[in-house]
Amino acid sequence: MYIVIYGAFLCKTHDKNPILKAISELETAAEIFFQVLQQTMRLKIVQAGEPVLRQTARPLIRQEILGDEIQRLIRDMKETMQDAPGVGLAAPQVGLSLQVAVIEDREETLKDLPPQELAEKDRRPVPFHVIINPQITFVEDDKIIFYEGCLSLAGFSAAVPRARAIQVDYLDEQGEQHSVEASGWYARILQHEIDHLHGALYIDRMHTRTFTSVDNWNRFWRGKPIREASSTPTR
Ligand SMILES: [Zn+2]
Repeated sequence: MYIVIYGAFLCKTHDKNPILKAISELETAAEIFFQVLQQTMRLKIVQAGEPVLRQTARPLIRQEILGDEIQRLIRDMKETMQDAPGVGLAAPQVGLSLQVAVIEDREETLKDLPPQELAEKDRRPVPFHVIINPQITFVEDDKIIFYEGCLSLAGFSAAVPRARAIQVDYLDEQGEQHSVEASGWYARILQHEIDHLHGALYIDRMHTRTFTSVDNWNRFWRGKPIREASSTPTR
């Protein structure tokens, strides 16, 4: 660092000096290296059947959270979720059995959805945030059923009952403690992501007869009452 600053200072008056020219080049290389370090990367999202999706993820200590590896993982998970696109992504979905998940329900996505659907689902924008070592408290017994999907069960969906309202205590990416009371769609996202950190997928909780490909959901079930899709056979 000292060399870089010294070089930058002297190069203004000593452009012809080969040593200072070399230092200047070193400075440029250091800048490029730093930029590369800051770049994010899209991660591979693993699919159902990968053992990591069925393991209980390991909690992180504050020192790890603040370390370069986890900070980089969070940046990469954010880019991967936004690229997918999804409203949540848990570390086991990118092959790492760690208690980390990223969440974001973007305003741009919601403005393209019918207001009636947003009202029914109690779905509002949720800013990007990170949850680490989350603990759920169920504040009421009330459950609601909606179709949901998962980036690790790409192309499928099913109706899943979830608690309407919950409280979640978690650490953020700075290791700071938070407590949030969530309801509606945000509560559903949190329950789905926290399930991932305990080796559970929505298929463990779904009404099994509603399981469908997304194509067929659009074709046959969109806009229909869920009880129609989940009706049991007569024998
Ligand atoms: Zn999922």
